[in-house]
Amino acid sequence: MFCTQCGAHAADGARFCENCGASLQAPGAVAQVAPAKTNRRASKPTDPYQEQIRQLKLQIRQLKLELKRINTEMAAIRAQYNQTSSFVPGGLLKRLDKDIEDARLWGPQKKKQELQQQIMYLEQQLLGLQQQQAQ
Ligand SMILES: [Zn+2]
Repeated sequence: MFCTQCGAHAADGARFCENCGASLQAPGAVAQVAPAKTNRRASKPTDPYQEQIRQLKLQIRQLKLELKRINTEMAAIRAQYNQTSSFVPGGLLKRLDKDIEDARLWGPQKKKQELQQQIMYLEQQLLGLQQQQAQ
């Protein structure tokens, strides 16, 4: 049987609840089934951080995928540049090529930095949430 005051399990025939001391002899003082209150306590309360952490992790993963894509793109631009520059003798054309390469890399480079900052920011948020969750 269970104490209707606190929901603690009580030995059959016990006169008082061992947990809260309530009298179990009064009519209606014991329940054969654990009151709903205990059920809610028994099944862990939903962690308020869990969903936020899940969402953050998802966001971070997507940003990292995007970052990977940009890295691949930049590597392709560099590879292309290295390929052409190996055929070009002399400094001027090479410098021009380099300028073109830089110009082409500038966009992805900027995007990459933005993504890295976003990821860092989200990871800090995630860390904060995980610390709060652990408390
Ligand atoms: Zn009790």
